[in-house]
Amino acid sequence: MTELKISYKDDSSSSINISSSQQSNRLPQAGEISVYKSTRGGDFLCLHGYTYQIDRRMKNKIKWKCKESRNKTRCGSKIYTTENVGTDRISAYKYLGSNDVFHSHDGDNDQNKVAIFQSQVKDTGTNNRTVPPSRIINQLATSMKLTDKQLGMIPLHATLCYNAVLQRRAQQSHLSIWTLIELLITEETAVRMKHFQSLSGKTKPINKTIRNGVININQQINLLNQKLEVNDIELDDCLISLSTLVGVKYDQWHKQRKKDGRADDSDDQTRTSL
Ligand SMILES: [Zn+2]
Repeated sequence: MTELKISYKDDSSSSINISSSQQSNRLPQAGEISVYKSTRGGDFLCLHGYTYQIDRRMKNKIKWKCKESRNKTRCGSKIYTTENVGTDRISAYKYLGSNDVFHSHDGDNDQNKVAIFQSQVKDTGTNNRTVPPSRIINQLATSMKLTDKQLGMIPLHATLCYNAVLQRRAQQSHLSIWTLIELLITEETAVRMKHFQSLSGKTKPINKTIRNGVININQQINLLNQKLEVNDIELDDCLISLSTLVGVKYDQWHKQRKKDGRADDSDDQTRTSL
């Protein structure tokens, strides 16, 4: 069995500032900085619910501006850090100070965490080609203790990216049995993600039955994988069970979507390509 090592340092304790004054929370303070990569490969810093992008490199230090600096609020908060003390792939910076300018807006720890999650999924996926994406996503979501709200905040394109890659692979003429399993599992993950994403956009209460169904199916898939890995079940049985599970889940989700009257995206394509 492939041992997948995902290290995620939970710094949520350090990013919680209990203060009687809302204002003082908006002043940049020392703390542990989380880093995630932008789509172009640059570093973004997360500190106490605020995101920073590079402003300019200085002698022995880097100046970072709040990501909201170009938005309507024209936030003028800036922080200083050391130069990269990590590696090229996994950057790390230490907080040095700030320009003592209050943020013009509130921070968002949820958004911060989701951004870090997305970046780590991409990074882990790139470096563990043989591990099913759903396993990466599930393990990472677990180790980062993502809440349902945060799961729902993961943008659609982040999960569709994965599907697009898998779809291309499914179209290859020599599809291995292992790739097929991977596809099935990923399909399930996509449905699960969709579920939480659609939930987050709803105002009506969460449908407990469906939610529990999703979690239940997820557990069953993990169990089947484990059984197969220790030769507890035959491959044929495993495949049949997996496809049944995914099919059931998809039908549930599809029905729900119809009920909601959501004319959503091109998700059906992924399924038909199987
Ligand atoms: Zn700001």
